[in-house]
Amino acid sequence: MRAVEGIRRRLGWKLFVSYLIVIAVGVLVLAGAVQLQTPSAIQRHVDRMESHLLSDPGLVEDLRQNFTEAVNEITLTAAMVALVVAVVVSVFTARRITNPIRTMMSASQNIAAGHFEQRVEVPSQDELGNLAKSFNQMAAELEQTEKRRLALIGDVAHELRTPLSNIRGIMEALMDGVLPAEPNSYASVQREVIRLQRLVQDLQELSQVEAGETYLDLSTVSPVALVNMVCERLRLQFEDKEVVLVVDVPENMPLVRADPARANQILLNLLGNALQYTEAGGQVTIRVQRQDSDVMFTISDTGIGVSPADVSRLFERFYRVDKSRSRATGGSGIGLTIAKHLVERQGGRIWMTSEGVAQGSVFAFTLSVAESQG
Ligand code: ADP
Repeated sequence: MRAVEGIRRRLGWKLFVSYLIVIAVGVLVLAGAVQLQTPSAIQRHVDRMESHLLSDPGLVEDLRQNFTEAVNEITLTAAMVALVVAVVVSVFTARRITNPIRTMMSASQNIAAGHFEQRVEVPSQDELGNLAKSFNQMAAELEQTEKRRLALIGDVAHELRTPLSNIRGIMEALMDGVLPAEPNSYASVQREVIRLQRLVQDLQELSQVEAGETYLDLSTVSPVALVNMVCERLRLQFEDKEVVLVVDVPENMPLVRADPARANQILLNLLGNALQYTEAGGQVTIRVQRQDSDVMFTISDTGIGVSPADVSRLFERFYRVDKSRSRATGGSGIGLTIAKHLVERQGGRIWMTSEGVAQGSVFAFTLSVAESQG
């Protein structure tokens, strides 16, 4: 019973037993065919020889018997040799198939134990080779995911450290009497707490967009209404900072397919950044243009600009050009990463260009024209 169970559970044994069945059937057919065929074949030869040996029935009978024995002996020896060779070959073939599978099995156990650098050798160019290639691809992706996870933990810890140590410093100064217990001192603590809250909110949103879990309520939206709404919301802040806001949106723009709240969030982020990184007296322009089956939104400013080396990294999470400056204004470097995911989830593209430091920046993204408008 145990042996049967063992065979059922092991591919190598299954292959071996299936070869063995094929060999046994082959040998049986061979033996059967020899037994059936031999008497008539011998009879034919003997009949032919009879004419030469003339009439000695004893000799003829002897001849027939010897012939039969010789054929049986040859058949048996050949079958035994064939059996031994076939068993050796089938063991070898079964091993060739099961060894790579066994290697992959132990590699997957290693990966499960956290050794993501594990790879297997590609044994051949057949299905087993393809399986090994897919396995290695899966391992490489798991390794990347693990690296991203570790980097994220490191980044989050780093981001939390600054506000927390600020709070600790203020509290210690308050307790030692170095800082007076007055509203201003408490307001500094509150500022840090607000920054922490914003960071946690951003992180939560980032994890949702990165996991593709953000729910999009797609509908048909007017780009003009979108831009007007965002500009209205930020107009006072532009006035306060004395930055001019220019809106260049033609009235005859087609409607786009988007989630209005998310599109609003993207525009707010880009326009808010443009305002933040532009000095008083500067200008921010928001423009909407049709481009084939897309509508392109462009937000350009005359602000601090970005060096060519930073341009390509701006949409990476936690990436800030000037960490101390951005941190002082509460920026965590997550806004553009979220914006990128949101644009791409809605089927668009987002990019930025800058002529260099102090040369201003241009951020642009697209949304698709709603189908009925195409
Ligand atoms: P933050 O909250 O730090 O602004 P973002 O993801 O929105 O995070 O932006 C990432 C970084 O990109 C910013 O820290 C800043 O260095 C740079 N950046 C964004 N917008 C502009 C802009 N209009 N001009 C210059 N630099 C910008």
